Amino acid sequence: MPPQGTTISGPPGGLLPVWRRHVARAGIVFLIIFIAALFGIFTRPVGFLAAVWPANAILLGLMLRWKGMAGPAGWVGAAAGYVLADCLTGSPLDVSLWMTVANMAGVAVGVLLLRRLTPAQLALTRSSGVVALAGTALAVATVGAGLGCQAEAVLFGRSPVEAFGNWFGADLLNVMAILPVILTMPERLGAPSVPPALPPRPERRRRPPILRPAETDPWRWAPAAALALSLLATVLVGGAGALTFPVPALLWCALRYRPFGTAVLVLVSALAMVLMVSAGHVHLAPAIPREDMISIRIGITLTALAPLTVVAVTASREELMGRLHHAATHDGLTGTLARAAFMEKARALTDRLAGEGRPAAVITVDADHFKRVNDNWGHPAGDRVLARLAGVMQASLRREDLLGRIGGEEFAVLLADVDGVEARRIAVRLLDAIRSVEVPLGPGDETYCGSASLGVALVTPDGTGLEAALAAADRAMYRAKQNGRNRVEMA
Ligand code: GH3
Ligand code: MG
Ligand code: MG
Repeated sequence: MPPQGTTISGPPGGLLPVWRRHVARAGIVFLIIFIAALFGIFTRPVGFLAAVWPANAILLGLMLRWKGMAGPAGWVGAAAGYVLADCLTGSPLDVSLWMTVANMAGVAVGVLLLRRLTPAQLALTRSSGVVALAGTALAVATVGAGLGCQAEAVLFGRSPVEAFGNWFGADLLNVMAILPVILTMPERLGAPSVPPALPPRPERRRRPPILRPAETDPWRWAPAAALALSLLATVLVGGAGALTFPVPALLWCALRYRPFGTAVLVLVSALAMVLMVSAGHVHLAPAIPREDMISIRIGITLTALAPLTVVAVTASREELMGRLHHAATHDGLTGTLARAAFMEKARALTDRLAGEGRPAAVITVDADHFKRVNDNWGHPAGDRVLARLAGVMQASLRREDLLGRIGGEEFAVLLADVDGVEARRIAVRLLDAIRSVEVPLGPGDETYCGSASLGVALVTPDGTGLEAALAAADRAMYRAKQNGRNRVEMA
């Protein structure tokens, strides 16, 4: 028995829950793969070309996004799912085992290759991620088809070459059309979070600007409608050229929608095309040899690369623009709004509030005796203090309030919908937050204790507006300095 006060490191709750967790994982993967494999088996008779085999893409996606699934339990569950689905639908056990090994070897290659990608690449928000996806699709399809074509040839009485082509085409479609949907699935649909490319910063409470069509944009469904029309045109017009009819609409979708929406439309379009062609709805030629069908399916799948690349480039450009915009409008040290951005936003907000007859107030904040911090402990220490002061101020403000750094150790706050009493209450709360700041400085136990002078003024709706209010708040703030600092004064 360990001495009292000693903690034993190890999995919480002992061994049993660990086993339960493994069994649960295996069970979940088993169920998903079993259902996906059955779906694949039951779509086989739709037509030779139509074979859609989503199990491999789903397994690959599970292993890549739900990292816990990529252990032995996940692989065992998957193997059981493949084999049981096959055996229940009449495949001999040896052939079923063989095909399962081929399926899982392909998926394993996919996991090994794609696991090296960065989260942003894996979420298909980098064009390099799409290149990697295409290369992986090729590798997965080659390995799976290479190992499994003999078994498929035995099972369906095909030539090994034909079986290879069929398997290759199915896996290519898997990785290039089905997998992107799983990789780009947003968290709110149940997918685990993807770590952000940049560490989160406290000022990121506000959502980054959204450059994609707003919910209110009446044209936001136009690209999807164009895709539906072009799929219809494929059937109505026919001919070999019709196979590329959906490409322009898919590119439009990629320019307008986020990666997940684009990936879903790419999948829908690819599946629709494959099914329509195989069911003979697209008039191609009097008699299409089977080899050409394989080629057609691969061709349809390859066109998915164009919209996926465009959406990746668009997403990474948007992220870059967002970062640039953030850098241009925010102060690098404190993360608050930079002076020009604060003034611009504050002016826009006060104009709007004045138009609606709603009140507003400003507070100016100046750190007390800040020069001493720099003089005694150096500029880097002063920088740390400034960042902390800004952090506690931001945290004690309401979400809609604006906080800007308008000078070295001077900040300004714009409060919407407040009267004098409420503005003073918020200013006192700000000062309390500042007073609570303690920053260790230097090697000893010297500590900076927060102190600041605050001036409060109402923004009058008579049009003199923001500038006059800021000047009045500044005068009140200087009065606070004269009256002994570390206090709030009203204009
Ligand atoms: P008061 O109570 O009267 O406001 O005294 P103070 O020392 O705060 O005021 P003063 O205007 O004399 O000094 C402000 C100091 O703030 C001077 C400058 O070195 C420092 N400062 C301004 N910007 C920065 C910055 O970005 N980093 C650091 N470390 N110090 C800064
Ligand atoms: Mg100052
Ligand atoms: Mg000062």
